[in-house]
Amino acid sequence: MKELVVISGKGGTGKTSVAAALAILARQAVIADCDVDAADLHLLLQPQKSESQIFRSGHVAMVDTEACIGCGTCMRVCRFEAIQLDPVSGKAVIDPLACEGCGACTDVCLSSALWFEERECGRWLVSQTRAGTLVHARLNIGAENSGKLVSLVRKKARSLAEEQKVPWIIVDGPPGTGCAVIASITNADAVLVVAEATVSGQHDWKRVAQLAQYFKIPLFVCVNRGDIHPLLTAEIEAEALVLNAQFLGTIPYDQKFNQAQWQGLTIVETQVGPASLVIRSLWDQIQQQFKP
Ligand code: SF4
Ligand code: SF4
Repeated sequence: MKELVVISGKGGTGKTSVAAALAILARQAVIADCDVDAADLHLLLQPQKSESQIFRSGHVAMVDTEACIGCGTCMRVCRFEAIQLDPVSGKAVIDPLACEGCGACTDVCLSSALWFEERECGRWLVSQTRAGTLVHARLNIGAENSGKLVSLVRKKARSLAEEQKVPWIIVDGPPGTGCAVIASITNADAVLVVAEATVSGQHDWKRVAQLAQYFKIPLFVCVNRGDIHPLLTAEIEAEALVLNAQFLGTIPYDQKFNQAQWQGLTIVETQVGPASLVIRSLWDQIQQQFKP
């Protein structure tokens, strides 16, 4: 079983559209949507939910209003301005969005009126789609620790892939180069960067390529809508050589991408056009690399 992670370095490059198309081409795959801050793979794969679990991470302070004597000591030590005294009752009130779970308030409360609860940060879900089983997640507004949730989604996807004995796990990774991206590529078999032929796209693809290099993960790159700026596309292709990445091709700008999205389909499920032909060729090249 091989795990391919599709990343982009920045948002808006068409990474999710490419990842969904690859999942369809793989035929037998478990799909993991690790873009947990802005998950949208479900828009193309129309999942039918079969399992839903709460994701908890970190802690939030809670007040026992019976025990609180309203002395305000906790409010004075909180560096995050997460505690106020209620103007009516005079008791401490915690703002859960501002609380960082540092524990300073619990240390100073002589009335033992404060304690910690595990913070509910979102949900992770298992769903069935026409491309295979999808593991995805929803992070609550303002919730943190997306890296931990990404690791959880990947772990669940791997155990389902082993159970179902499918040859592929296709991961739609998060944008950027932060903690969530590191969590999505660690120990993967290969990374595909969907780059964009813009100045920022070129800059960001190099950053994620260096990240994949650091973790010694085999690296592929393609440029989406590369015909819009052939010069930058050529530069990305040249950089791929330097960065030890295999350049798989240039996906041309194709209106069929939009038409497919309006129908809730991937580009490889619509009438054959230039972009879908290139994506099929990308998939053939990736498969070639992993032939036994
Ligand atoms: S330190 Fe304890 S008793 Fe004092 S206001 Fe805070 S919670 Fe209430
Ligand atoms: S745990 Fe830290 S951040 Fe949260 S309310 Fe207490 S002092 Fe403030």
